[in-house]
Amino acid sequence: MAFPALFVSHGAPSAALDDDAYTRALGGWARGRPRPRAVVVVSAHAEAFGPVRVNAASEPALIYDFYGFPAPLYDLRYPAPGAPDLAREIAGTLLEAGLEPVVDAQRGWDHGVWVPLRLLYPAADVPVVALSLPVPRRPEALLAMGRVLAPLRERGVLLLGSGGIVHNLHRLRMDDGAVPTEPWAAAFGAWVDERLDDRDVEGLVAYAARAPHADLAAPTSEHFDPLFFVVGARDGRDRVESVYQGFRYGSLSLRSFALAAQ
Ligand code: ZN
Repeated sequence: MAFPALFVSHGAPSAALDDDAYTRALGGWARGRPRPRAVVVVSAHAEAFGPVRVNAASEPALIYDFYGFPAPLYDLRYPAPGAPDLAREIAGTLLEAGLEPVVDAQRGWDHGVWVPLRLLYPAADVPVVALSLPVPRRPEALLAMGRVLAPLRERGVLLLGSGGIVHNLHRLRMDDGAVPTEPWAAAFGAWVDERLDDRDVEGLVAYAARAPHADLAAPTSEHFDPLFFVVGARDGRDRVESVYQGFRYGSLSLRSFALAAQ
C-alpha cells in the first residue's frame, strides 16, 4: 500500500521545544505506521529564485532561519542523512516531466524542514531530500511536482508539505494561553478542509479569489503552496486523515493531515 502523503502546518519554530497536543499528534502519527524509506519535503521557507532545486547533499547543515526565539532552539540538532542517490533520481524524474530541476549540494535545511521532521522522526534515522519552493511559481507547478513524484509513495517514501493553512504573522496575538481563534481564520480553514474532503483541486487552486478572508489568511503564498505538492500526490483512493486540527496565537493554523488510502 502506498505510503501516505502528509501536510504539516509547522507553526512557530519554538514548536521544536514544545511538548503539547500538537507535537504529540505529529509524533504519534509517525509512530503509528512503518518508518518511511525516505522523506521528500517542500518547505515554505525554501523559496529560491528559478526552477525547483533538489537538495542532493549527503549531510545538509541546519539553517536557524528565525530570530528572537529562546536560546536552546539554536542548539538543537537534527543529524538525519541526506539521500543523494534519491535526489538525483528525483531530479531525473522532474526533468522528464519538463520541470527543469537544478541539483543543489550546498543548501542546508531550513526550520520548515527540520522542526517538523524532528517531531515526526526524532531518531533522525530517515534520509531526507528537500526540494525548493520555486520563485516565481503557480499552484499548478507544485501540483505537477506532487503528481510526478507520487509513485515514490509506492516505494515507502513520505512526500511532505511543510507550511501553514492560515499564516499571517501580522495578526498573531502573542499573549498565549486561551486566545480565542479569530473567526476569519476559522472560516478560511474550514473552507480549505471542505475543498480537501470534496477533492476540489480546482477550487483550492483558486483559493485567493474564492476562499473567505484569503487576503488575511494567506497574504503571501509561501506557507499555503506546499499544500499543492501534497494534493498533487493524492491518489484516487486517498482520504483525508486528520493529524491535528487547531490554532495558536489566535490565528496561526496548526492544521496537519495525511492523505492516505483507508
Ligand atoms: Zn513557517
